Amino acid sequence: PVIDVEEIEGVGRVTAQKLREAGYNTARDVAFASVKELSDILGSEDRAKQIIASAQKLIGLTPFITAYELYEKRRGIRRISTGVRALDELLGGGIETKAITELVGEFGSGKTQLCHQLSIMVQLPEDKGGLKAKALYVDTENTFRPERIMQIAKYRGLDPQEALRNILYARAYNSDHQMMIVEESKKIIEKENIGLIVIDSLVAHFRSEYPGRENLAERQQKLNHHIAQLLRIADIYNAAVVVTNQVVAQPDVFFGNPLKPAGGNVIAHGATYRVWLRKGKENVRIAKIFDSPYHPEREVTFRITEEGVVD
Ligand code: ADP
Ligand code: MG
Repeated sequence: PVIDVEEIEGVGRVTAQKLREAGYNTARDVAFASVKELSDILGSEDRAKQIIASAQKLIGLTPFITAYELYEKRRGIRRISTGVRALDELLGGGIETKAITELVGEFGSGKTQLCHQLSIMVQLPEDKGGLKAKALYVDTENTFRPERIMQIAKYRGLDPQEALRNILYARAYNSDHQMMIVEESKKIIEKENIGLIVIDSLVAHFRSEYPGRENLAERQQKLNHHIAQLLRIADIYNAAVVVTNQVVAQPDVFFGNPLKPAGGNVIAHGATYRVWLRKGKENVRIAKIFDSPYHPEREVTFRITEEGVVD
């Protein structure tokens, strides 16, 4: 349940107003704020500490939980259907909340199409595979198309305009902007009931802004921070995070797959699930989960049509 900031002990009308103006709408937003952030808003470090502690108490946040509570918490993981039966089976029921799912593949392999589809699927009621929630779409390549959303929404039985209203869109112009958008998004996720966060593409800005070996360390450090930030949000708000990634050629590979995902170890360790997409004949696409200890190496196919992504 969403708890308003005013219900936090020690927060009166005036303080509540200040918090809301700064984008802290719920007790959860405050509970996970840093002391520094709140000090700047409230003008007192002591008061910030006290209010954060009250908010944490209010939402039942303590540093230690029993393993049983962890088990219960993990059962709180929810799933968003991809709308493709074969793909859902591959993923064990759909895209998970509290996790980062990475879609990696060459240009035209269907990453952006799947992101569009998931932004609609998340809106469906639970018995239809959704979370009855909204999507937040961070677009770095200017490939988001509202017209495509309307097309797919119609096929899934949603009102096309309503479906558009349930997607919050942000265009990210560079990697710093991208990280800032994600940081800011924390303040609306619970209030707006966002169940899915899409970053399409996660790596494109980072790769173009930090080219070559000499920038590698700095790039990876920033990317690492960004992924940690996303994972934290997914966990705190029980939301699903879907990111797209490019493939790069490995010039030194003579046997096996000459392509590998960009982003190196940082993404390999950061992404909870990694899905590799490939082009088949015409509109057929092939998906495979890789790097997962829980999923067998298996391939499934799907198609991209007017209706969206289908079996
Ligand atoms: P990626 O993001 O991996 O580069 P996309 O998700 O943009 O790739 O996929 C592009 C593919 O989707 C193209 O092959 C295109 O033909 C197909 N596609 C896009 N829109 C439609 C549509 N309305 N009907 C059928 N196919 C479509
Ligand atoms: Mg794309």
